[in-house]
Amino acid sequence: MIFKLENSVNQKLTLPNTYGVSVCVKREDRIHPFISGNKYRKLKYNLQEAQQFGLDTLLTFGGAYSNHIAAVASAGKEYGVKTVGVIRGEELYSKIKDNPTLSFAKEQGMQFKFVSRSDYRDKESITFIDNLKQEFGEFYLVPEGGTNTLAVKGCEEILTEADNVFDYICCAVGTGGTISGLINASGEHQKILGFPALKGDFLSDNISKFVAKKNWELITNFHFGGYAKINKELVDFINDFKSLQNIPLDPVYTGKLMFGVYKLIEKGYFKKNANVLVIHTGGLQGISGMNKILKQKKLPLIND
Ligand SMILES: *Cc1c(COP(=O)(O)O)cnc(C)c1O
Repeated sequence: MIFKLENSVNQKLTLPNTYGVSVCVKREDRIHPFISGNKYRKLKYNLQEAQQFGLDTLLTFGGAYSNHIAAVASAGKEYGVKTVGVIRGEELYSKIKDNPTLSFAKEQGMQFKFVSRSDYRDKESITFIDNLKQEFGEFYLVPEGGTNTLAVKGCEEILTEADNVFDYICCAVGTGGTISGLINASGEHQKILGFPALKGDFLSDNISKFVAKKNWELITNFHFGGYAKINKELVDFINDFKSLQNIPLDPVYTGKLMFGVYKLIEKGYFKKNANVLVIHTGGLQGISGMNKILKQKKLPLIND
């Protein structure tokens, strides 16, 4: 199986030179025509492994707006693999057409199983998995968010040799798979900064499972109240950033990441003349779903 991804380019930001730092954005959001970013990196070696095991179905888990669900569905279509998405929330069963992520995944051929929140919490249990096997046959299981050892290996390929010039590498953190790959691929002279998109003390432990190096740190105060939480300040930032830099950001991960990077620059966190690389992990498919929520809350929308 040839898993084809476009190379991403580093795009330099226009910043007032008073800050004394230079920031580039690695456009991983551009590596695939439909699905942007790290979820494809994470799937690469998992798809190859599924094929080696002779399994023609991928099964995975996610919430209603999950970038991972969209990516698995798209990869399944592209590589002729059946996909099953176990989705948190029974009530979504009748609302697929109102949900851009689920509609997209369905169009790509994904089958769904909608489960209650309590069943979803139990999704790793042997009984639950056995029941899924009864229902869907044998499958290759990709964990929620796509993170496992093979996913980390895929994310190690985000950095290239040319990226050795950077002093800091910044990325958004959900489960910690992506930052783990970046840490493993980094040089000792580089510092990797992770910006969690959610509250949670478990993240450092998750990352430590996959990495041996110590040149990393989590910047934990830019989650905006928790996973997928949003406010007007963040929406305005994302819209201003796009019109100034011509780079779209997603509201769940990369918007919060870039907001945090800007705040660190303003505070003088980075050393003088630092070369900073920010990884754009994609997630842009989530904008239309978030805009529906913003509309209900009578908040400004994200321009797309
Ligand atoms: C899933 C996701 C992340 C988080 O990646 P992890 O490997 O789970 O930490 C970051 N950015 C985007 C856009 C994502 O979709």
